[in-house]
Amino acid sequence: MRPGLIIRSSSIHAAGCYTMLPIRKGERVLEYDGPRFSKDAADERYKGRVVTYLFSFGEQGEVIDGFGTAMFLNHSCAPNCETEEEENRIYITAIRDIAAGEELVYEYHLHDSEDEDAGCHCGAENCRGTMFSEEELKRRAKQARMRRRAPKQPRSRAS
Ligand SMILES: [Zn+2]
Repeated sequence: MRPGLIIRSSSIHAAGCYTMLPIRKGERVLEYDGPRFSKDAADERYKGRVVTYLFSFGEQGEVIDGFGTAMFLNHSCAPNCETEEEENRIYITAIRDIAAGEELVYEYHLHDSEDEDAGCHCGAENCRGTMFSEEELKRRAKQARMRRRAPKQPRSRAS
């Protein structure tokens, strides 16, 4: 692990990753590393699980099951990091100078999610109120329109 990174409780969500040393814009902070699966295998493995740390990327729909420090990075609508793909590896890179003591955050751009909603509580001025990507929001809006058009079905209750 990079020197100066610590995990401690975060005002955004549970635990977060903070830097005790300044980081320069453009520096690679961490690798998003962990076991890799195909998207289908990951879906099978995590069926019904609420919390996952899956990072999907690439055209084959490969998934990394986040393990280690990177899985503690929270989402923010005002990120100071972003993810970068290089030769099939994912890195988290600073997109601006980061001061000592700041929490490291990036935009999750969640998609393909079964979650009802992924509310964001990052507290940024420009908070979008969701961790879903723009594309995912559009996809969901379209689905909702289709559902409204469909004839009413008796609902089975989830227990
Ligand atoms: Zn937000």
